[in-house]
Amino acid sequence: MTAEGTLPRVAHSLTRSGGVALPSVEDVRTEVKAWLEENWDPDATVGQWWDTLARAGYAAPMFPEDCWGKGWPRDLAMAVNEVISEHGAVGPPAGLGYLLAAPTIVAHGNERQKQEDLFRILSGQDAWCQLFSEPGAGSDLASLGTRAVKDGDEWIVNGQKVWTSTAKQCNVGMLIARTDVDLPKHKGITYFRFDMTQPGVEIRPLREMTGRAMFNEVFIDNARVSNDDIIGGLNNGWAAANTTLMAERTGLGTGGTGGAGNAFPGPIAGQLDDRVGDHVGQIRTGGTGGGGMAAANRMLKLAQELGRNREKPIRQKLAKLYTLQQIGRYSVLRAKNPNQRTGGEANIAKLMMSDLLRLQREVGNEIIGANGMIMGPDTPGHGVVQEVTLFSPGPSIYGGTDQVQRNILGERVLGLPKEPGPAKDTPYRELLVNT
Ligand SMILES: Cc1cc2nc3c(=O)[nH]c(=O)nc-3n(C[C@H](O)[C@H](O)[C@H](O)COP(=O)(O)OP(=O)(O)OC[C@H]3O[C@@H](n4cnc5c(N)ncnc54)[C@H](O)[C@@H]3O)c2cc1C
Repeated sequence: MTAEGTLPRVAHSLTRSGGVALPSVEDVRTEVKAWLEENWDPDATVGQWWDTLARAGYAAPMFPEDCWGKGWPRDLAMAVNEVISEHGAVGPPAGLGYLLAAPTIVAHGNERQKQEDLFRILSGQDAWCQLFSEPGAGSDLASLGTRAVKDGDEWIVNGQKVWTSTAKQCNVGMLIARTDVDLPKHKGITYFRFDMTQPGVEIRPLREMTGRAMFNEVFIDNARVSNDDIIGGLNNGWAAANTTLMAERTGLGTGGTGGAGNAFPGPIAGQLDDRVGDHVGQIRTGGTGGGGMAAANRMLKLAQELGRNREKPIRQKLAKLYTLQQIGRYSVLRAKNPNQRTGGEANIAKLMMSDLLRLQREVGNEIIGANGMIMGPDTPGHGVVQEVTLFSPGPSIYGGTDQVQRNILGERVLGLPKEPGPAKDTPYRELLVNT
């Protein structure tokens, strides 16, 4: 791989620059197919393949051309993913770096961050976790108490984060910390690229009812972060954090993107030197536990397998699941048309995803009956229903709870009165916050 700062790029044959017309979906499919014929090598390592994909602009085609993308709209980016998938190649890196940190750097990062930090995400060299929630700041995230205090060209960080998904596998964190207690709570926050591997960072896993320990507590004790790693400017972290949260809602609502399989990025997971062909066909890690757009088909197949597809209550629920899934799809399509946006699409999409998962849980358990109480790949439903059942409360909590999504829709889209609270310009130090 090339050293940082001297990163060559593949010339873009069909791009949107200087008013040049966008290619058609068919043009993109043809271009990507030809490129894959030439470049996909199942015997390369995962790291080499991601490097090639990122340099070609196909890891994140929606990003602008100066951010390792093609500047293409969603439908063209989806065409890229489809072709990668059809070719049996591996898509871009999984995880929160790709989903959340990358769009935040595109929107708020400086030139160095776009060239180096963003490239390290798109090429899978770094794995990022999201250091937002705290024991006293979840829905009211702007109340966060983790402090960063200036010390020369660095900041000294102290505090505790919680529910940090995949922290154990990540070498970098999206850290939001309070840098000025005299400013109002939304204004004294700064967003940092934070080294998770340094002394003073202790990660303690939290075991969930799925049996896994996907999320963690992170204790930060006199850890350090450089001034150069501020993303979006000092005390402007709330704006950057909102970009992350918007990406989270949109990503969760649409079920994300990706090719036929992917590995987990970064040096800790240890997959960068694997043969990339061995990761084809694997499902994306850290996902929604099976609540994606294929839910109705999966449940239909299960009902057929178990001979329960003729029972009326099950058929009705399957039809409801399919209907909800299609409404979700149409909402996503509508959101693509800038003239028809209400501003609440991401919130609606996320609410829809939570509903879909709950309904999938309901119909799945009705189909497998008492088998829902036993877990394992050889149980009816192949463990998928059981997995969805145990994971289903999660999506209505992470990325902002259902209630918070409705508050946002009420206040920002419908213009309803805001919740009562202290005046917006009250300095953080004068607020009553959970500590
Ligand atoms: C599976 C999973 C993964 C997660 N991963 C991460 C991660 O990687 N990084 C990270 O930073 N965080 C993560 N989280 C944390 C998540 O963002 C928070 O749990 C969430 O924001 C809610 O905060 P809380 O848990 O403190 O609940 P609280 O904010 O205490 O809310 C408790 C209840 O009160 C309701 N409520 C609160 N305020 C209002 C209001 N104003 N109006 C109406 N109802 C309200 C909520 O809807 C909820 O039902 C994850 C959570 C889960 C479940």
